[in-house]
Amino acid sequence: MPKRLLNSTLVAVLSAAAFASWCAAPVFAQNAPCALHGTVVNADGEVKDEWVSFVDGRITAITETKPVGPKIFIEVDGFVYPGLIDTHNHVHYNVIPQWSNGQYPNRYAWQQDPEYLEKVENQFVRESDSGETADAVLYGEARSVIGGATLIQSNYAKPQAEQFIRNLDVPNYRAESYTGPIEKIDPAVADKLRDNLNGTTLRLFFHIAEGKKSDTATQVEFGLLKDKGFARSGVVLIHGIALTPANFAEMKQNKMHLVWSPRSNLRLYGETTDVQAALDAGLKVAIAPDWTVTGSSNMLDELRFARNYLNRNRKPQEKFPSQKLFEMATSNAAEVAGVSDKLGSIEVKKCADFLITKKLVHYDKKTDAFLKLDAYDSLVQCTPGDVELVVVAGRPVYGDSELMSKYAKESSAIKVANSNKRIAIHDEKTDDHFVDFNAVEARIKKALPCVAPLYEP
Ligand SMILES: [Zn+2]
Repeated sequence: MPKRLLNSTLVAVLSAAAFASWCAAPVFAQNAPCALHGTVVNADGEVKDEWVSFVDGRITAITETKPVGPKIFIEVDGFVYPGLIDTHNHVHYNVIPQWSNGQYPNRYAWQQDPEYLEKVENQFVRESDSGETADAVLYGEARSVIGGATLIQSNYAKPQAEQFIRNLDVPNYRAESYTGPIEKIDPAVADKLRDNLNGTTLRLFFHIAEGKKSDTATQVEFGLLKDKGFARSGVVLIHGIALTPANFAEMKQNKMHLVWSPRSNLRLYGETTDVQAALDAGLKVAIAPDWTVTGSSNMLDELRFARNYLNRNRKPQEKFPSQKLFEMATSNAAEVAGVSDKLGSIEVKKCADFLITKKLVHYDKKTDAFLKLDAYDSLVQCTPGDVELVVVAGRPVYGDSELMSKYAKESSAIKVANSNKRIAIHDEKTDDHFVDFNAVEARIKKALPCVAPLYEP
C-alpha cells in the first residue's frame, strides 16, 4: 500500500561475502551446537519423530537417534515445521487496529477515502512524527512472529537491521519492491529496476490488479506491466485479483510468481484472486496477510482464513488440500521470495528456522472420540496460542513460557490468546543485546492514541 521504494543503492553495494553468510542471520544467530527433537515435517512430505541438529544458524544433520556433540537439546511435543515465510506485508503499519469502511473498486479508491486517511494514514504519520517508527516495526514484527513467520517481505518504512525475524528488504536477500501504481512509475525508476533485475536483484515485487475484476483500472494493470518490460523472470505480482487464466499462463511462461492475500482482498473488494486457476496454470503461489489493517493478524490466521474460504462450498471429500496451503507458506513462499536455497524446508545446509505447534485434535461425532489431525490439517487450524516455539537462525524468539524460559537467554512475558508466552528481541546496539518488548509496547502506546492488540483475530 505505501508508496516507498527500497533504497536500491543498498542492493548495489551487497558484497558476495555478505550474501554467502546470510543464512546465519547477522545479529541473532544461535552459535552453540543445538539439537531439536519433535515430529518433523520433512521436505519430502514425510512426518516423523527426529532430531534436527544445527550450529551457527544452519542445519547440519537430521537423525532418528539422539546426536552426540550438541551442547543444547531442545525437546518439544509438537509438530516441527519450517518457519513460515510472509511474502507480503506492510509491517510499519501494523500497530494500527483493523479498519474497514465498505467495499471499493480498487486500491486507489480507498487510499483517498477521508475515513481511511483519518483512521489509518494519519496514524502512520503520527507514528513517524513521534519518532516511534523503529518501535512500531518491532511491534509489527512481533505480531508476525507470534503467527509463525520467520521471514517477512514488507517494503519497510526505512531499511532496518534484523533484530527479530528475517527482513526480506535487507540487501542480503536481493529483493526489491515497487508499491505505487504501475501506470505512473517514473521512467528512470523503471529503468533502474529493470537494470537491477539484469544484475543483483533476484525478486521484484509489484502490487498489480488489486481491485474488483469488473474495474477497468484494475483490469489494465497487467498489460501496463508488460508494456513496461516487467513480464519477466524474477517479477512477483502481489494480489492479481483481476488476472485471468490467460494472464496466469503468460506469467508461468515468463517465470513470474504470485502472492495471494485473500482476507485483505475480500474485506476491501468483496472478491479475491482465482487462486485455483493460478495453481492450475502451474504458478508458484505464496499466501501472505498483506497487512494487519485489512488482512490477517499473522500467517497462521491467514492460513486458517484461506482454509475456511476455499472449503466453504466444498464437500468434505473435495476439500482443498491443507498440504498445498502449507506449501504456499513455506516451500512455494521461499521460491517466490528467491530464498529457496536456504529457507522454506527442513533440510541439511538450510537455515535453522522453525515453527513448532501443538498437535491439534478434532472431535469425531461418529466415534465420540477426539482424533489426531495430520500435520497439515493441524497447521491450518492453529492460532498463535497453539504455537510452542518459533526459532529463527537457531534462536528461540517466541513460544510457551516454559520453553522460552528454558531455551532463550532473556525474554519478555506476554499473553497471547489467553496463553502465557514469552518473546525475545535481540539488538546488538544494546550492551546486553536484550530489548524488553513490554517497554517497546509501552512507548508506542504513549505515542499513539490507538494501538492494535498484539493478536487481533
Ligand atoms: Zn500491499
